[in-house]
Amino acid sequence: MNQNDDARILSEVFGTLTFAGEALRRHLPGDVYEMLQQTLQRGVPPDPWIASTVATAMKAWALEHGATHYTHWFQPLTGSTAEKHDAFLSPSENGAIEVFSADQLTQGEPDASSFPSGGIRETFEARGYTAWDATSPAFIFKTPDSATLCVPTAFVSWTGEALDKKTPLLRSIQSVSEQARRILRIFGTDEGVSQVITTLGCEQEYFLIERDFYDRREDLRLCGRTLIGAAAPKGHQLDDHYFGAIPERVMAFMTEVERRLYELGVPIKTRHNEVAPGQYEIAPVFENANVATDHQMLTMQILRTVAEHHGFVCLLHEKPFAGVNGSGKHNNWSLSTDTGVNLLDPRDEAHTNMQFLVFLTAVIRAVDLHADLLRASIATAGNDHRLGANEAPPAIISVYLGDMLSDILDQLERGQARSTKKGGQLNLGALTLPQIPRHSGDRNRTSPFAFTGNRFEFRAAGSSASIAWPNTVLNTIVAESFDYLASELEKTAGKNPSPARLETAVKALLKKVVKQHRRIVFDGDNYSEEWQREAQRRGLPILSTAADALPVLKTRKSQALFKRYGVLNKRELEARAEVYLEKYNTIIGIEARTLVSMLKREVLPAAVRFQTELAGAVTATEGAGLDNADTRTQLEYLLELSAALRKAIHAVEMVECSDRALSRSAAEAQELADPEKQARHVRDKLLPAMEKARGIADTLEQLIPDDLWPLPRYSEMLFVK
Ligand code: ADP
Ligand code: MG
Repeated sequence: MNQNDDARILSEVFGTLTFAGEALRRHLPGDVYEMLQQTLQRGVPPDPWIASTVATAMKAWALEHGATHYTHWFQPLTGSTAEKHDAFLSPSENGAIEVFSADQLTQGEPDASSFPSGGIRETFEARGYTAWDATSPAFIFKTPDSATLCVPTAFVSWTGEALDKKTPLLRSIQSVSEQARRILRIFGTDEGVSQVITTLGCEQEYFLIERDFYDRREDLRLCGRTLIGAAAPKGHQLDDHYFGAIPERVMAFMTEVERRLYELGVPIKTRHNEVAPGQYEIAPVFENANVATDHQMLTMQILRTVAEHHGFVCLLHEKPFAGVNGSGKHNNWSLSTDTGVNLLDPRDEAHTNMQFLVFLTAVIRAVDLHADLLRASIATAGNDHRLGANEAPPAIISVYLGDMLSDILDQLERGQARSTKKGGQLNLGALTLPQIPRHSGDRNRTSPFAFTGNRFEFRAAGSSASIAWPNTVLNTIVAESFDYLASELEKTAGKNPSPARLETAVKALLKKVVKQHRRIVFDGDNYSEEWQREAQRRGLPILSTAADALPVLKTRKSQALFKRYGVLNKRELEARAEVYLEKYNTIIGIEARTLVSMLKREVLPAAVRFQTELAGAVTATEGAGLDNADTRTQLEYLLELSAALRKAIHAVEMVECSDRALSRSAAEAQELADPEKQARHVRDKLLPAMEKARGIADTLEQLIPDDLWPLPRYSEMLFVK
């Protein structure tokens, strides 16, 4: 980026690398422009005939920006994005020309065999198709020497089954819209509404560390987190990092990140230091869920790439450093009509308050009925280190409402809502439901699913994850509850009820639903031990690890839910369970082998060197006729620890799941072939063995002098200068 570019005000830079807005106007004929605008802004499916005009225009625009290649950009179940580039250049009789046809825009056929499909597709049936998602703007991805046109696409098998994260997300967005509109219809507030839009704004937390430290640690390079490392003498005890002044080098990094993202049309709004040393946050203004998800993937990619320009590495892992605050991705979620009304905004008029309470209660019901599924939607090996670690929301899902709304629920439950708590204002309106001020209630940082005034913040999502899946699940469970409440109201009040009739029906229904699902609401301290006991008493699912949570995707209840709302069929859902379980096992398997490698090649040799040094000191000192009991004791302790570490390494090797594992009977091998069983084995045997080895290594680290310790320490890595 040069100074001249810098001088442009940011609003001029915004979206310059996206095929949207001005670029469309300049390159498309009026009617096609209108149509594509409708698609981009309101999600109206494009007419197939526009594809050829759009392709020609998109090509011209991309060439202007120096693009030489195009790619269908998609989101396979790996959790990252995928792209296969093709050149525009095509040989012809009169030399070469640039080609980009309607077909090349709308459909691609990447070899799908190397992407996880969870059994949907056998490897020999390699066919997979990408299909243009015209609702998310195409963009140009630049590197210093290249520019590539990226067309956001869905990725499906030749049977039409979703092999990606976007397809089910789009289906869930549609489903929640349909069901929400039924409720609007009952309240007579659906005029001019053709769609209800899922809105999303995700706060991304991340760490920055020096590139040099990263290069010197195999665990960071291979696993994205440290597998060993003794605590630094200073952590976040002083609370001096959170919202603190941003170091200059970090600021330079953030400025470049934001600029790159602005060019790509990602509306970044907020940047600040996070709680842990070396930890930061970036957050955009919310957008529709599909585009927000694409933008979130781009944000992670840009964070990683730009960090390198500044001598940093950006760690997106949920828990790069043990004992230090981990990173999440707070998923701010709401629903809004395409006429701009936020359905979770308690507005002033009593009438819409009643509608708000229906939507709110429906979400509470959804989370209670499917707390296990919501927990499963954010279950990964990385996120397990974070959830419940007294810093992030626990693995138990509950809803935070705040005093005021909780009080209103009390009243609804009693069937006679009369007043709002704060301000003591009595509601004298015709409808006896209370008025709800906008910012009702305080914040609760410990809650995994908190109402924050006009949206819910699902705070348990992990920092490295794609947000497509958690939102697919959230939309689907909410669609079911909207369906339920709409059906009940249609039954009791009829399709076009009078206000009085509607009020009676709503009150009766909310009373019932609140009574049934109130148990999921918890406003207290989610970190406390009492809550664990209380949650158990309330019968809420406690799924501590991903190995416990992921099998929820296989239940009949989950299958029926996803099928009913057309989000995933049985096979598609099974595939996800399979892929996520396998990923959990694979990640921890890689961690185990990396740990063993570091312990054997770096930690033990350092211990031996120190041992030699100490032994030398003992011999020399005693040779000089002096007593050296202290050093001798230290030497003995070192030997003891080294022996214990060797044993602990062996124990990890014994239970590790790859073919290289030391002990494996045929029966055991058979058992481990089932990903769900293997996940339990990993949880019960492998992780504890790794933890044990780590504990010893960390003790050794504290004994071994700096000149013999081969790895960058926490105290060096965490404090960027
Ligand atoms: P916090 O104070 O919770 O850290 P931030 O300002 O960092 O809040 O982030 C809040 C996020 O919530 C932003 O991305 C914001 O755009 C998003 N948000 C606000 N309103 C909505 C909404 N109606 N739907 C979805 N997201 C929203
Ligand atoms: Mg924030």
